[in-house]
Amino acid sequence: MLSFDTLKDQVADGTVDTVLVCLVDMQGRLMGKRFHAKHFVNGAWEETHCCNYLLATDLEMATPDGYASTSWENGYGDYVMKPDLETLRPVPWLEGTVMVLCDVLDHNTHKEVPHSPRSILKRQIARLTEMGFDAMMATELEFFLFEKSFDEVRKSGFRDLAPISGYNEDYNIMQTTREEHVMRPIRNHLYDAGLPIENSKGEAETGQEELNIKYAPALDTADYHTIAKHAIKEIAHQKGHAATFLPKWHRDKVGSSSHVHQSLWKDGKPAFYDETDELGMSELMRHYMAGMLKYAPDYTYFLAPYINSYKRFMKGSFAPTRIIWSVDNRTAGFRLCGVGSKAIRVECRVGGSDLNPYLAMAAQLAAGIAGIEEKLELAPPTIGDAYKGDTGMIPATLRESRDALHQSKLLRNAFGDAVVDHYARAAEVEIEDFERAVTDYEIARGFERA
Ligand code: ADP
Repeated sequence: MLSFDTLKDQVADGTVDTVLVCLVDMQGRLMGKRFHAKHFVNGAWEETHCCNYLLATDLEMATPDGYASTSWENGYGDYVMKPDLETLRPVPWLEGTVMVLCDVLDHNTHKEVPHSPRSILKRQIARLTEMGFDAMMATELEFFLFEKSFDEVRKSGFRDLAPISGYNEDYNIMQTTREEHVMRPIRNHLYDAGLPIENSKGEAETGQEELNIKYAPALDTADYHTIAKHAIKEIAHQKGHAATFLPKWHRDKVGSSSHVHQSLWKDGKPAFYDETDELGMSELMRHYMAGMLKYAPDYTYFLAPYINSYKRFMKGSFAPTRIIWSVDNRTAGFRLCGVGSKAIRVECRVGGSDLNPYLAMAAQLAAGIAGIEEKLELAPPTIGDAYKGDTGMIPATLRESRDALHQSKLLRNAFGDAVVDHYARAAEVEIEDFERAVTDYEIARGFERA
């Protein structure tokens, strides 16, 4: 990627003049400051500061009450942003610019802030390391591109929402050729920023795209996802288009997901693979998957964190509705991929395109670890159309998944009470805000007829 020494040379010869110093917030966004590169290499690389409301706010940057970690009463003090120089990378779509991700530390103790998404994932990875395993993960990014720019869409009151293409573009080369002015720089700039981009493809709706990144250790994967999502929005903006990761922007269009592929490895070898098993699944994999299934309601909030996230879970839409697993079957919440080969892995299909990858992966690792520790038995796979049947339903609303999170012994053990309470409060903030809203739907339905 980019070593600190190389950066110093690039700053000295004028190739680089700007360093983006970023943390990842609860919503999975990059937040931070733009440093003059000379100031960064001269000292700011050690640490900088930010207001601690950045990990207790919502999409609107409001200051909701009810968070133990920070409040008006406590005066909204500072966190330390500690650059992780391993994440230093060029930002090829911005001139003279590089980026670094930060860990978030308590201002007094210099310990990692427990509810920081990066810290939450690092803790679960550390638990696995102690057990002798590495987690290899990949997240798929689905999103929609629109004809108009973000500003034009906003000025139209979010009404002028024509997708960039006119028909379903699933795997469609002709249609995606027409979008190469946006997608080609996305692939190439991200590749040059050190992300192992595999491919992009058209998805199963007008204007819908997917970006695939090669699997990697879990923390790298979460960093890749966050940087890729950020880049997609910025590059779409540069090209005069809007991109959205809202899971469901129209009631009649399919939603956008973020599937999470996962496998455990030991000493560089796939520990989910057993060549003597009919499907190629090791005992370890069966326990891990049994944990993911048993605890899916506990962590659904981390896969679907907003009111809108739940609009995606529709029968017959390729988005799952039930917590069951199947062999290479896209109707189930959990799909076995790479059957009978070393690439064997489980794909969780529950998560929407709005998930925070650090939280989604950490929660699923916690569930998988519990499956291994409890030696849980995996039920037989579901065969056929998984939409048929009404057992093991995914929590249907944010309130249900908020309650499951709040009551989760698993996540209280794995993340700690303070972290669970923090995110349960974040879910409540979303619910409270939505309950105050008067939607277009209500007005159109009831204005004259109610
Ligand atoms: P799909 O049919 O779902 O598009 P792909 O073959 O494109 O499947 O793979 C999807 C993702 O799975 C890719 O990002 C790939 O890097 C990842 N992947 C492949 N092998 C593994 C593995 N062993 N563990 C985790 N992820 C993997």
